[in-house]
Amino acid sequence: MTVAQETPNLTFDCETGNYHTFCPISCVAWLYQKIEDSFFLVIGTKTCGYFLQNAMGVMIFAEPRYAMAELEESDISAQLNDYDELKRLCLQIKRDRNPSVIVFIGTCTTEIIKMDLEGFSPRLEEEIGIPIVVARANGLDYAFTQGEDTVLAAMANRCPSEPPAPTKEKEEDTAAATRFQKLLNLGLKKKEEAPPVATEQKEHHPLILFGSLPDPVAANLEHELKKQGVKVSGWLPTKLYTELPVVQEGYYVAGVNPFLSRTATTLMRRRKCKLVGAPFPIGPDGTRAWVEKICSVLDIEPQGLAEREAQIWESLEDYLQLIRGKSVFFMGDNLLEISLARFLIRCGMTVAEIGIPYMDKRYQKAELDFLARTCQEMGAPIPKIVEKPDNYNQIQRINALQPDLVITGMAHANPLEARGINTKWSVEFTFAQIHGFTNARDILELVTRPLRRNTNLKDLGWDKLVKEEAAV
Ligand code: SF4
Repeated sequence: MTVAQETPNLTFDCETGNYHTFCPISCVAWLYQKIEDSFFLVIGTKTCGYFLQNAMGVMIFAEPRYAMAELEESDISAQLNDYDELKRLCLQIKRDRNPSVIVFIGTCTTEIIKMDLEGFSPRLEEEIGIPIVVARANGLDYAFTQGEDTVLAAMANRCPSEPPAPTKEKEEDTAAATRFQKLLNLGLKKKEEAPPVATEQKEHHPLILFGSLPDPVAANLEHELKKQGVKVSGWLPTKLYTELPVVQEGYYVAGVNPFLSRTATTLMRRRKCKLVGAPFPIGPDGTRAWVEKICSVLDIEPQGLAEREAQIWESLEDYLQLIRGKSVFFMGDNLLEISLARFLIRCGMTVAEIGIPYMDKRYQKAELDFLARTCQEMGAPIPKIVEKPDNYNQIQRINALQPDLVITGMAHANPLEARGINTKWSVEFTFAQIHGFTNARDILELVTRPLRRNTNLKDLGWDKLVKEEAAV
């Protein structure tokens, strides 16, 4: 293992880890929607259940494909057999929902009582006839979005190494479908009429992208690459578990999110893939750098990216006027902070501090370099990166600095607002569509919303709602 080189110019700090964030089991909320034939079973206690029920809001009324296996006293004291209990639940899930995969989400409790989920899942898998993927997305080890990382890392091991041989039934189906289409002159004709792709696909090594994005966003990024002649061979995850991409030794893989370091490591070490170390496609600057890096690795000369980026910046001008010269403070809870800070510095903001739960300097190397370069080019002060921040200390620093905007969790948002400090709820960046050229507007819509709202309400004279002497 080589030691990652420290990025010059940036200062890193590490505090106590006493901060607010979502528990990583929250990843089931977006992953069950992305992987349509999956079922997530969170094996935990009522604490986990309460969290999911509250954090997911109205989603819980939509018959979600996730459930809690609630551990009871007798499970914890080992009076019941874990294996039999889980088998009973899995059979019930199979009967009611018939998913293509069941994902076991391990929690703090399963860690502490050392429930051997990985150990017995192969036998269980065989007995019930449904693949079982085990992810330890617990609050002891991880923060919020890292939950997705644990699930995808487990799934990376399940990607086939060979394309499935077409079964006879499938071949017959396709042949029948083609005959039918010919008869009606429908599908095939459409194909003939489809406009030719602007750039022809170039011959290059297969490329797999990893990270769960809403379908339109994933299609958009794929389209940006296609314009450069880059073909995306597959995504991890896919819409269906049964269609996980083929991953072979020597394939290139590129991440779309900064919190996927375990998935990247698994793909590199276990599946022998080559990681494209690029900044992440967040903001027009990040998207351009991401596409450029992929092109350079695949030996392709990118075309028209500078113009594309300039055009997007131009379209953002109305938002940029609102934030230029303003300062922002990231308390840190979802690992998107470095990429967002880099984009906001490019927008003309200054960033005093970037809190972040966990900093993988190897996986985020290109993004960190890009951040340092952006500060240099914009003449902005270099922000301090605080890993495992201490929220109490951060509040003292916020009080001293009085930044124009604090990006933070709900625990601190209202108390800070009451003290006259603008805040933006950080979790929204996780669920909003922020990737690619066209979504840069959405990021700025989120960032400027509290500023616009508070400017509109300024004349009411209610900007401070706590007694002056109240200590922050
Ligand atoms: S932190 Fe642990 S106990 Fe709390 S909800 Fe998450 S997994 Fe459950």
